[in-house]
Amino acid sequence: MNEDLDAQEGLDHVVDIFGHEDMRRGWGRGFLAGRLSHAHLIGGPEGIGKGTLARNWARLLLCAQPETGTDPDPRACGECPSCSKVASGNHPGYLEISSEGGGTIEIARMREILSFLSLRSDGRRVVLIDSADQLREESANALLKILEEPPGETHFLLVSHRPASLLSTIISRCQRWLLGPLSRDSFHEVLDRHGIHEERASFL
Ligand SMILES: [Zn+2]
Repeated sequence: MNEDLDAQEGLDHVVDIFGHEDMRRGWGRGFLAGRLSHAHLIGGPEGIGKGTLARNWARLLLCAQPETGTDPDPRACGECPSCSKVASGNHPGYLEISSEGGGTIEIARMREILSFLSLRSDGRRVVLIDSADQLREESANALLKILEEPPGETHFLLVSHRPASLLSTIISRCQRWLLGPLSRDSFHEVLDRHGIHEERASFL
């Protein structure tokens, strides 16, 4: 499939996620019951929507009045002050560290996390790392130290194309969500959404 769903969404608007229903339900149940871990590893092949999923979860964690949904499938409301700040890119409780252009994530970015965590916070905070595969060794060690003593009310969302390559000590501290390829129905839904028709789809 040519579309890279991971790469195309920022945090500027709420998007629909296709597929991965079981995982969404598992997350939804944990979220509603207040049983989610402080650290999550979202792993799976490239281009299947891990980054989009993680950003939707970040929105939900920060939303002041999430919609419960059915299944359950809780979602960010998209309208509260928190959702508005997230949409405009200035939510004080959200930090995204990404490996733009596929480069490595340097230790300076981990210091950025420490400085973010040192600020006073009135509510929940979310740190999203996309992708954790790009952490340099010293960055991974610094992240591990942070995860070992997690600050209260902070959730870490680590996106990874190759979760097996991460430090086992990082993996063991995360609630793990592994995505498989999209189901056939979900795949066609994505194609429809992007205006790709069946004839062409058969060549992908
Ligand atoms: Zn909201």
